[in-house]
Amino acid sequence: MNKNIIVGVDIGGTTVKIGLLKIDGKIIKKWEIETKKSKDGTQVVDDIWDSVLITLTELSIDLEQLLGIGIGAPGFIDGENGYVYEAVNLGWKDFNLSDYMSSKSGLPVFVENDANIAVIGENWLGAGNHSKDVIAVTLGTGVGGGIITSGKILNGANGTAGEIGHIIVDTSGYTCNCGRKGCLETIASATGIARQAMKIVKDKPASKLAKVFEENKTINSKDVFELAALGDDDCNQIIDYTADVIGFALANLSITLNPSKILIGGGVSKAGNQLLQPIKKYFTKYALPRISEACELRIAELGNDAGIIGAAYLVKNFKTE
Ligand SMILES: [Zn+2]
Repeated sequence: MNKNIIVGVDIGGTTVKIGLLKIDGKIIKKWEIETKKSKDGTQVVDDIWDSVLITLTELSIDLEQLLGIGIGAPGFIDGENGYVYEAVNLGWKDFNLSDYMSSKSGLPVFVENDANIAVIGENWLGAGNHSKDVIAVTLGTGVGGGIITSGKILNGANGTAGEIGHIIVDTSGYTCNCGRKGCLETIASATGIARQAMKIVKDKPASKLAKVFEENKTINSKDVFELAALGDDDCNQIIDYTADVIGFALANLSITLNPSKILIGGGVSKAGNQLLQPIKKYFTKYALPRISEACELRIAELGNDAGIIGAAYLVKNFKTE
């Protein structure tokens, strides 16, 4: 039987995204299941495979048609052998995810960090356009990143390369989740933008932001972009400062990598040009001219599907290389 279907899996802290994809990356079906962390974290892997089997039956797809399984997971991962050093959110430590899933399914299994599969997916079918040197930054609840250099994903000595969110941009800034001060994530994540807005709420009780807070009892990054679009100075200043910091970090990072593309994704990137234009401005201001001339900054295109598409690419690339 023709092996022409790939399982792409993107494991997150609360949900797992699963897809059945064709070899060209087209999604046949995608769905989500809950991330259950019991049984030392193996429950979630069991659940994924059970749910794949159920879906195959529903769609009358034979198990024999599956080419392999690609998986992205949050944590420090050795992509060469599918070994997870540590994934705190999932309760994994020194776990051979690839072996475990392979022995359940009888299929070849390929594993990478979740930020890495997102950049691989974007570079295959999204905004990357098969570039050899790409930096991807994901502005979500936190700030993630993935780097492709000379066509290969960069993992580093122990799976920590590309943790762009932890570039320090303000040595006296807020304390980050990593325990250090002033990481990019403390300013440029949705959480960081909301914190900047809360400072305005406290300092300027007559501001528009304070009014929104009074009505909703909360402020998020979307409120900031919406008010900025209506001409609110405080919010425009927050966006300008955030873009300045992102542009600064990316310009410095680009000295090492000389990328042809920088892709900006994650929930915050839904602001589109409202965020992209000022980031471009500051990137150009801080980067070496030869570097900014060669580099295009773009908003990522695949949204939540980037992960399962990138995971599928791991299988396709290996099996057809
Ligand atoms: Zn940090």
